[in-house]
Amino acid sequence: SSMPNNRRAIKKSAKLDNVCYDIRGPILRAAVEMEEQGHKIIKLNIGNPAPFGFEAPQEIINDVAINLPNAIGYSDSKGIFQARKAVFQYYQQKGLFNVDVNDIYIGNGVSELIVMAMQGLLDNGDEMLVPMPDYPLWTAAVNLSGGQAIHYKCDEQNGWYPDIADIESKITANTRGIVVINPNNPTGAVYPRHILEQIVQIARKHDLIIFADEIYDKIIYDDIEHIPLCTLASDVLCMTFNGLSKSYRIAGFRSGWMMVSGDKSRAKDYIEGLDMLACMRLCANVQAQYAIQTALGGYQTINDLVKPGGRLYEQRNIAWEMLNEIPGVSCVKPQGALYCFPRLDPAIYPIEDDEEFMLNFLRAEKVLLVQGTGFNWPTPDHFRVVFLPAEGELREAIKRLDRYLASLR
Ligand code: PLP
Repeated sequence: SSMPNNRRAIKKSAKLDNVCYDIRGPILRAAVEMEEQGHKIIKLNIGNPAPFGFEAPQEIINDVAINLPNAIGYSDSKGIFQARKAVFQYYQQKGLFNVDVNDIYIGNGVSELIVMAMQGLLDNGDEMLVPMPDYPLWTAAVNLSGGQAIHYKCDEQNGWYPDIADIESKITANTRGIVVINPNNPTGAVYPRHILEQIVQIARKHDLIIFADEIYDKIIYDDIEHIPLCTLASDVLCMTFNGLSKSYRIAGFRSGWMMVSGDKSRAKDYIEGLDMLACMRLCANVQAQYAIQTALGGYQTINDLVKPGGRLYEQRNIAWEMLNEIPGVSCVKPQGALYCFPRLDPAIYPIEDDEEFMLNFLRAEKVLLVQGTGFNWPTPDHFRVVFLPAEGELREAIKRLDRYLASLR
């Protein structure tokens, strides 16, 4: 042919060498292929409420629609005033007083802001403490930014709470900050005050920035209180992340925020960097910003879903109970969020490669789950179940898992 043979393969950048996001990785591609071949797959893999029949509050949709003509142009890089004011008042009501609208950045979901916060902070070799298991975007964003994610243990034997001694043991001169995901994805743990206070104490002692991902702060079961970390950390720099994707079931709008609080005086330079990154992407989707004030100020429909008799509460119970009934499977009861993170007893299921295990299960039973190593869990003995499907589908999926695991015993 006429193709010159001196053309180089087009490679991805080396920055991506240590970046991984398995939730939408090879297993999802395999599931999509199977769907294209006509198979029906039960998907328990992504925390996206809308496809499972969860409706968004109508007033949010109405306000976004009504404001569409006002959302034609770019907004301020940090976001429209009314949205940032609503966020700031939300935290005022929770007892945080040293913030104002300028401390709030609206983003295209929390995802964009996580990447921005890491890009703005980390130099090559900087270390960030990230939980294991984690929501893997945190590890990916740290590594993409040239930093190194250092994983601290969350202790399954202790309700999946962060292991404080393990955190302390992993701090070095290069540690810049600590990521805390509460309520947690994938474990469903909601951290009590004494754990949060110890984390703040460590941050204080070692001069670390706290990154608090609290996107599930309203998805709490069993009358447990969610304590925003920023309210305990007035003397350390604290970055709080939250948004509308989960609590208001509008993940597709891409609407979230990041708030800087605590010891801001020391962080002028970092904040300048964040402002610059916010400007470089011009602004978040303006239309979706109109959802924020309405969402935070309105009737909190999520409360009806998480109380006894509510759909999420009941599905949490069903998933947790059915998983624990399978021989060799044990699961800590999730107290928040949308996930179970059960353990497979390695003595009964000697799995060596959990991605392959999930792929085989998908092919055999047409159910899509995500393997634990996809959440930076170090051993191939866990997986995550999204309990968003309605009762019938959820029961069917876990029944198929039971059947598949029985064939391995
Ligand atoms: N943080 C956690 C812990 C999550 O589970 C998710 C989504 O699953 C996100 C952040 C990203 O949310 P979004 O970009 O939709 O705001």
